[in-house]
Amino acid sequence: MKAIRIHEHGGPEVLSYEDLPEPEPGPGQAVVKIEAAGVNFIDIYFRTGLYPAELPITNGQEGAGTVVAVGEGVTEVSVGDRVAYTGAHGAYAQFAAVAADRLVSLPDEVSTKLAAASMLQGMTAHYLIRSTFEVNESHTVLIHACAGGVGLLLVQMAKKFGARAIGTCSTPEKAARAREAGADEVILYTERDFESDCKRLTGNQGVDVVYDAVGKSTWVGSLNSLKPRGMMVTFGNASGPVPPLAPLELTKRGSLYLTRPSLFAYVSSREDLEWRSSDIFEWIRDGELRIHVGGEFPLRDAAEAQTCLAGRKTMGKLVLIP
Ligand code: NDP
Repeated sequence: MKAIRIHEHGGPEVLSYEDLPEPEPGPGQAVVKIEAAGVNFIDIYFRTGLYPAELPITNGQEGAGTVVAVGEGVTEVSVGDRVAYTGAHGAYAQFAAVAADRLVSLPDEVSTKLAAASMLQGMTAHYLIRSTFEVNESHTVLIHACAGGVGLLLVQMAKKFGARAIGTCSTPEKAARAREAGADEVILYTERDFESDCKRLTGNQGVDVVYDAVGKSTWVGSLNSLKPRGMMVTFGNASGPVPPLAPLELTKRGSLYLTRPSLFAYVSSREDLEWRSSDIFEWIRDGELRIHVGGEFPLRDAAEAQTCLAGRKTMGKLVLIP
């Protein structure tokens, strides 16, 4: 089978399109014939070495397809089931052996491609809006990179639960896409000072929560955009990791809360995985959540897909088709 392998950390050029033996299912595993794989920033972090992994690995943390073999003791899925998963290396390939208790079955109405486009970013937006900070109609939220994969989903979910959504992004085209997704206000943070715009838009109060996965370049402005006792959610490093922070900085700004969450702690139990994924699939089916697939690439062009994502050239989600 074909797969995209990483033997050493580096730029997109280290992604190597190779032949590998097809995997056999170990105990508790199912082999999935991957029909679409999601492209995510986390794939870039594993490629560059920002997130540690013992090399070599097959890149890719999100896939969907059909079960073609199951190992000993598997009860969750059967051969022929359409499934999706996230949270294990190896999705940039034609086949992947995956722990069966990490697979979720797909409803008929959700295509395999949409499932691959919605598992990781969809469940991320879900835990951020439903669990990390439970958003409701009394809240104003600030969402950075609001036309990105996670961003467009955060905007839609914040609106679904009644909040006022202020977004930031870099271009008028991205702003239009975010408005279409429901954003009440969009600030072009490459042209304007988002911190003062946020103050102005909230009558000098500040926002209740900031969802910031841009990281280094927005970090201080994000902290300054919160109201007293607001919640700073730093959940990514698109522009680089954030520097260390002395707790007194939180005191100075009005007893802020700070969290640095990751999806995998929010879907570690089977119950949470099923809750979040079934909500996502239900909302897609009912037309409450629109997944914008902003680009499709053949598997061999994984490097080009990652270059587009890292270069801020994309809106919504990119997928690879093996
Ligand atoms: P996006 O589609 O959001 O792409 C990243 C966006 O970040 C860009 O389009 C760009 O939007 C913005 N950005 C701002 N500065 C930079 C920069 N210097 N370089 C590149 N991009 C920049 O990606 P994803 O939806 O895949 O991921 C978004 C973030 O969410 C990532 O940081 C990722 O790590 C994080 N994440 C965290 C998870 C968690 O559980 N902790 C889970 C999933 C994702 P613009 O042009 O509008 O500025």
